[in-house]
Amino acid sequence: MKKYVLKNCWLVLVLVVSLNSFVLANEKEVSGHSSGHHSEEGVSPDTALSKLEEVYTGQKPYAIILSCSDSRVVPEYIFDAGLGEIFIIRTAGNVIDPIVLGSIEYAAAHLGAKLLIVMGHEKCGAVTAAVNHTNESINITAMLNAIKPAVEAMEKAGEKDNMVEKTIVENANVMVKRVTEESSIIAGLVKEGKFKIVSAKYFLKDGHVEFKK
Ligand SMILES: [Zn+2]
Repeated sequence: MKKYVLKNCWLVLVLVVSLNSFVLANEKEVSGHSSGHHSEEGVSPDTALSKLEEVYTGQKPYAIILSCSDSRVVPEYIFDAGLGEIFIIRTAGNVIDPIVLGSIEYAAAHLGAKLLIVMGHEKCGAVTAAVNHTNESINITAMLNAIKPAVEAMEKAGEKDNMVEKTIVENANVMVKRVTEESSIIAGLVKEGKFKIVSAKYFLKDGHVEFKK
C-alpha cells in the first residue's frame, strides 16, 4: 500500500515537473535565453551526431502536444525542445478525430508520454472560418465541424466581443474534454494519476504560452 502511494506521489511529481518545464522553456524562448536548439548559431546540440545516435535506438518523449498546423506555430521552437523530446500532432484548428486519438494513445500507452498539451493559438484561421460559418469543401467542412461546438458554446453564452479569440480558448478546452470522453485508454491513465491533460494558448505577437489554470 505504501509503495502504491509513493508511486503515485512520484507520478504526480513527474507530471508537475513536466508542465513546469514547459512553462520555463517557453519563458526562456520568449526572453531570448533559450538553449540554442533552434538558433542559427551553427550546429544545434540536438541535431548533432551524438543526439542522432541516442534517439536512433528508440524514442521516449515525455509529452504530447496537439497544436494547430499553422506555419507560425512550431512547438519545438516554442518550447525549446530537441529530437526525441516531444511527440507532436498538428491539425488545422488543433481538432481531434480517431486518427489523432490513436496517435495520442500510442504516445501515452506505448512511448510513455505523461502529459498532453492541447494548444490553440492567437489569430487561428481555422477557428476564424468556423466562427464566420464560411462555406468550404467537404473536407475543410469536416474540420470546421469539429470546431463548431466551441463556436456554438460562445454564441450561446452571448459572446460578441473578441469572439474568435474566446472561441480559440474554448475550442482547446473542448478538445481536452473530448480526449477523455472518446479514449478509454487515456481516460484510464488520467484516472490512475499517470497522465495529465492541459489546454493552452500560444500568442503570436510575443511567443508566450498561457496554460489553463
Ligand atoms: Zn490555427
